[in-house]
Parts: sequence; structure tokens; C-alpha cells
Amino acid sequence: MPDRHEMWKDLGMDLEAHDTLCSVLPQAFGDIYLSQENRPEGMAFWDMVVSDIHGIRPAELMEAQKEGRKVFGTFCLYVPDEIIVAAGGIVTGLCGGSQFWVPAGEEVLPKSMCSLIKASVGARLGRTCPFFRIADMYVGETTCDGKKKAYEILGRDVPMYVMDMPQMKRPQDYVKWAEEINAFKKIVEEFTGNEVTVEKLHEATVLLNNRRKALERVYHARKADPAPISGKDALLMMQIAFFDDPQRCTDMANTLAAELEQRIKDGVGVAAAGTKRIMLAGTPMAIPNWKMHHIVETSGAVVVCEECCTGTRYFEHQVDETPTTASEQIMALAQRYMKNNCACFTPNTGRIDDLLRLCREYKVDGVIDVNLKFCTLYDTESRDVQYALKEAGIPSIHIETDYDDNDAEQLRTRVGAFIEMLG
Ligand code: SF4
Ligand code: SF4
Repeated sequence: MPDRHEMWKDLGMDLEAHDTLCSVLPQAFGDIYLSQENRPEGMAFWDMVVSDIHGIRPAELMEAQKEGRKVFGTFCLYVPDEIIVAAGGIVTGLCGGSQFWVPAGEEVLPKSMCSLIKASVGARLGRTCPFFRIADMYVGETTCDGKKKAYEILGRDVPMYVMDMPQMKRPQDYVKWAEEINAFKKIVEEFTGNEVTVEKLHEATVLLNNRRKALERVYHARKADPAPISGKDALLMMQIAFFDDPQRCTDMANTLAAELEQRIKDGVGVAAAGTKRIMLAGTPMAIPNWKMHHIVETSGAVVVCEECCTGTRYFEHQVDETPTTASEQIMALAQRYMKNNCACFTPNTGRIDDLLRLCREYKVDGVIDVNLKFCTLYDTESRDVQYALKEAGIPSIHIETDYDDNDAEQLRTRVGAFIEMLG
């Protein structure tokens, strides 16, 4: 792995603190990932990305910047990547998934805020993540209250644009969201100096639909018993999709999917047929948050699906590629993005429908509804989730946790008992 210190120095990073982060990741990755048996060969690509996670892609992004391209950092699935890509920009996900960044976030945010927000702010202000340094503009959205306030803080340090999300899904909300996407398009055009033409937006839509299809193809393979890939590996693919080049992500996911399809034909799995199949539902799991997957998969079960933004919500539903005018294209984007069922919407009954459908499709034995501590939206919604699953006869437990490993043993006991109860 090349020495990246010069690059990180150029980015104004705190090298000493960053070295501490870099020193713990290989051990954690080795323990959690490389210790797995019978992994698909295609995972070698994602292992390679992790081995130089703050090097390979940041170097590519900086090269692109030298060629005049702009990098946009995003925090939520509602921000339409298509607009950025159509303007020649590059999207990089910026959600922080490590406890390492939380203390720097807590210097400016209340402790009683979810780890994802604290880590995201801490990664920027602590200068310990190259992606947070590289992004030319951050794009936020008015989803939860914590994020809205965090964007005000981040906006003092970096150019920030916030999209005003509707909170309901009435006909007028679709119109409002289309207007908001149109306003965002103008901002992106100004910032990049490139016009988003009908042709460019069509190309970007096809590119990103193809990424969705490739990721979905991997997930489709997970419906098989025995599961041809661990939940941990599938999660890693998803986490890296947020900041990888879209075409490379598509190619790698398709190659992996082809291998998994062959495994299914050959009856090869990462766990024996009949191993209890778990779905994780709830708040997103940003890289390197592998905590719950690791606990489940070292407790005798396999994770076969994630109903969350680092799971099915990222790729389900294509954007309609048929529109031929700019306004129709924008409405197509609005319609697709509004199909995401995030807890920031009211009512959000579509999420319950999704959960029940996914349980059937992935032949799930039990659901672990995981909530990041202090996320009141998902926490409140968990009552409805538990009720609906109970009505459908699907066993479930609700777990509240954060990025800290202090509760790992306690969680292991609870998860172990749950899996045992599944019989
Ligand atoms: S959970 Fe909601 S707010 Fe968070 S990334 Fe997903 S869509 Fe956005
Ligand atoms: S997990 Fe909840 S509190 Fe945290 S950013 Fe997402 S919606 Fe907001």
C-alpha cells in the first residue's frame, strides 16, 4: 500500500490522529471479515478497497478535481445523484460510521444525538477523514432535526446546500419535491459550470439505474438457502457503493452476483442450509459499522437482508428512463426518490409493507430491528414495526445501540437467545 501521508497533509488532515484511526482498522477488518470462511472470490475487490480505504478513492477524487470536476458530499438517500453525475460532478457518501469520530462531534453537538450525526460532524471538524476534506460542496437535506442542526455547523466550515424535503407524500408533496430537485439542479449547474441537459440526465439515469440493478442482483442471490454470501460481505459492498465510481461499482457487483448465482447452482453457501435467516431493519449502517452483522453471524445465524438505507432502500425502484423533456425527467426523479420509506415521513406505512414483503422474499426467520441510540424517529416507529411483525407471525426483537463496543457482550447474549428461540 503506497504511503499517503503527503496527500493527507495536502488535505489539511490531522495526521497524528488519523494514524491512530488507520492503525486500528486493519485489525478490526481482519477479525471481522478475513476470519470468515468460504467467502466469494469476488470479495477480493472490496477487501482491496478497505486495505487502502483513505487512499485509493481519495486519490482518484483529487485527480478528478485537478481536471476541473467537482466532488459533492451527501448524507442521505434522498439527494438525487443523477443531477450531480449529469453535471459532470462526483458523489461521495459522507455518513460517519466509526466511534473514532464521535468525540470530535460531541465537542459541538449534544451527546444525546445519534452516533451517525456526531461521527459525521466529528470526521469533518477533527480533520481525520479525507473524503470530508475533499468534497467541494456538502449537500444536506431536511430529514431529521439532528441533521438539520448539524448542517448549520458544517456549513460554517464548508460550502453547504440543504434540500428541503417534504415530510408527507401527498400529491402536492411530489410537486414540491420536483421543484426542490429543479432548484438543486440550478445550484449544481452553477457550481460545476456545466449544464444538465436532457441527454446528460438520461445518461446519468441509465448509469445509476444500472448500479441499482447490479446491487439488487447480489441481493437477489441472498434469497437462496444456503445463503451464498454472508450479510457482512453484502453490507461491505453496499457501504462502499456510496463512494465508489458508479460504473466500477456496477461491474464489480455484477461479477460478484454471477459468482453467487454459480454458487447457488452448485449448492455452495457460507452457512449450512437451514441456518436461521435474519433481517436487520432500521437505521443506516455506515462504514465501518459492522457491529450487529458480526454479532449475528458469530451467533449461529446469517443476515440475508438489510431493510435500511445501506440496504434495500439504496437500490429498490428504478428511475423512469423514458421521459424526453427536462420537466418530465425531474418529475421521474421526484417519484422514484419519494418511494423511499424513511421514518422522517408521516405517515410511513409503506415501510411496514416493505418489511413484510422483504421477510417473504428473503425467507426471513426473524427480524432484528436496530436503532441507533437517540434516533427518535426510528425508535418511535419501532412499535409499529414490532406490532406488524407480530401480527404476521414473524419473530422480532428491538435493539438500541451505538458505535461503541461497550454493549457488545450484552447484545451478543440477547441476539444469541433470540436466535436460539427461533429453533
Ligand atoms: S434513514 Fe432517512 S434520513 Fe437517514 S439516510 Fe436514510 S433516508 Fe436519509
Ligand atoms: S439515524 Fe435517525 S437521528 Fe440519525 S441521522 Fe438518521 S434519521 Fe437522523
